[in-house]
Amino acid sequence: MTERFTGQFTQQEPIPDEAIEAAMRVLQHGRLHRYNTVGGETAEAALLEQEFAAYTGAKYCLAVASGGYALATALRAVGVSHGDTVLTNAFTLAPVPGAIASVGGVPVFVGVTEDLTIDLDDLEAKAPDAKVLMLSHMRGHICDMDRLMEICTAAGVTVIEDCAHTMGGAWNGVASGRHGAVACYSTQTYKHMNSGEGGLLITDDEDIAARAVLLSGSYMLYERHLAAPPKEAFERVRYETPNISGRMDNLRAAILRPQLRDIEAQIDRWNERYRALEDGLRDTGGLTVVERPGAERYVGSSFQFLLLDWAPGKIRDVLARTAARGVELKWFGADEPAAFTSRYDHWRYAPSDRMPASDRVLASIMDVRVPLTFSLDDCAQIARIIRAEVSAVHQKG
Ligand SMILES: *Cc1c(COP(=O)(O)O)cnc(C)c1O
Repeated sequence: MTERFTGQFTQQEPIPDEAIEAAMRVLQHGRLHRYNTVGGETAEAALLEQEFAAYTGAKYCLAVASGGYALATALRAVGVSHGDTVLTNAFTLAPVPGAIASVGGVPVFVGVTEDLTIDLDDLEAKAPDAKVLMLSHMRGHICDMDRLMEICTAAGVTVIEDCAHTMGGAWNGVASGRHGAVACYSTQTYKHMNSGEGGLLITDDEDIAARAVLLSGSYMLYERHLAAPPKEAFERVRYETPNISGRMDNLRAAILRPQLRDIEAQIDRWNERYRALEDGLRDTGGLTVVERPGAERYVGSSFQFLLLDWAPGKIRDVLARTAARGVELKWFGADEPAAFTSRYDHWRYAPSDRMPASDRVLASIMDVRVPLTFSLDDCAQIARIIRAEVSAVHQKG
């Protein structure tokens, strides 16, 4: 009898009780808008910013409506405007080039290696023609950040980090998001903390922080922030910074604060699951496991493997066979963008030269979500099913 997996790849854990209670308190008092406070009250949104700044070690933090909004705000806050070239990863998700397009920037894609990180040689070649790199730590794979920062510093390129998949990650002991000038996180349901929608932005630069707060729609209430720069920083930019509302509300902040307190334990749970998948898939003929460097602290909230140089028909065969056994794989090589999965050549508003070495990698990437509702046994079973079906198709030749 062939086993079949019956879990749901998109089912997250419930919101913790403590977060539900915090949400109820906000609903009961009704002051959901972050600047709607009474007496000496401090808004949940301001407290979340203070706590997230402390967690990452950043001086300043701003909570906003989504990860994509945080990215666009970061671009505006570092001064990207119409027609500016912004480098970004060829392997990323649609909100990243979308954020660049939203401010009138021109995305220029940098290749991806078999480690699923940005191709630093390609970056070095393209950096002299750009002022900004929006670096996406896609699926949590962190490149050699020391070399990346050397390249960007030498070329005078400002780095904005998209940490949607690396909240809690690190490179050589430095938290992901603490290398570049600004970093952005998402608290959308599939990320490491869940408020449905939401985003966070961190920086140590007081001008960037002041502009970001004003951009997000603070009106002139910025003094109610706890993780914002001093008043003088706002005074320098407040007349010239447009208000492009995208604030986070107190309800979402209330739900996130207890989750932030638990995040380290959650990371351990993700990584146990990641390792169960990795152990189960190692040494499968035709399948490449992505080795994680020792300098990287990753959060295994998703798992990738490569079917390098496989004919598309055979990959589709693997997808169909695993799906029939309840295992949902996503393929970055598909001709048409599907659900969350798309490729740089699908974003036609940002035309790019082809990058054959990257195309080979992208065509091979198989992606598995790892929600914490899966047990370790579930992960071992998923790996067995993938292994069996990949092997069967591989052996057919
Ligand atoms: C989710 C995600 C974003 C944007 O987050 P939203 O909150 O959905 O706008 C950005 N980059 C990557 C890689 C993501 O996965």
